Amino acid sequence: MRLRTSAAVSWIDPEGKDRTILIDASPDLRQQVLRAGIRRCDGIFFTHNHVDHTFGLDEVRRFNVVQRTPIDIWAEPHTLEHLERVYRHIFAREHNVNDSFIAELQTHSVDPGTVVDLHGLRIESLRMNHGNLPILGYRIEAEGESDSPLPLAWCTDVSEIPDATKARLADLETLFLDMLREKPHKTHLNIGDAVREARAIGASRTWFIHMAHQIRHAEVDATLPDGMALAWDGLTIEGSTSP
Ligand SMILES: [Zn+2]
Ligand SMILES: [Zn+2]
Repeated sequence: MRLRTSAAVSWIDPEGKDRTILIDASPDLRQQVLRAGIRRCDGIFFTHNHVDHTFGLDEVRRFNVVQRTPIDIWAEPHTLEHLERVYRHIFAREHNVNDSFIAELQTHSVDPGTVVDLHGLRIESLRMNHGNLPILGYRIEAEGESDSPLPLAWCTDVSEIPDATKARLADLETLFLDMLREKPHKTHLNIGDAVREARAIGASRTWFIHMAHQIRHAEVDATLPDGMALAWDGLTIEGSTSP
């Protein structure tokens, strides 16, 4: 069984404090966070407004209680509009009949090219095309890292990568790239497209993500070129991990 696609990035900041950010908030967020033992949330970066990437947002309220701070979220304007409409009880809490236990969030708007410096990490928004829907991928790097998976890029739900974005994917240590299924799809890369794009990007290691259940892990994984592999639920990548 595969849960919906999302990721957590954990690091130690320059003051020695543990930090974790999430990329998207899947409907399986609660289960994923418990399973991974994630104890805090220093922010969420959204790629786009589809339900499989946003319907876990309600669950972060527990982090508010533990941390006693609002949680920052970053997304582009059309994604923020969607979140504010769907989560009206969070973003327009004054209309709630009872002021009950809900997430406390601080929104930040980003556009392609926006760089967010967060506790020693640099997170750059990149334009991706998900069929006709323009969405974001993220490039993440840190100063002075040597033996680490950085710079890395998270490119989920993509059918076409614009040239300007490709230029920002040139020197990656780790690439996460959409690979939905074998048959072509209007809004996602299929196996052939994904391998071709990954080759052109040329990251040291590529992990494919967002696979549909038609992709049988062992079967497809065995056919992939060196340095490329299918990711799996619970995959953890540290400095020395490679496909
Ligand atoms: Zn999508
Ligand atoms: Zn998706």
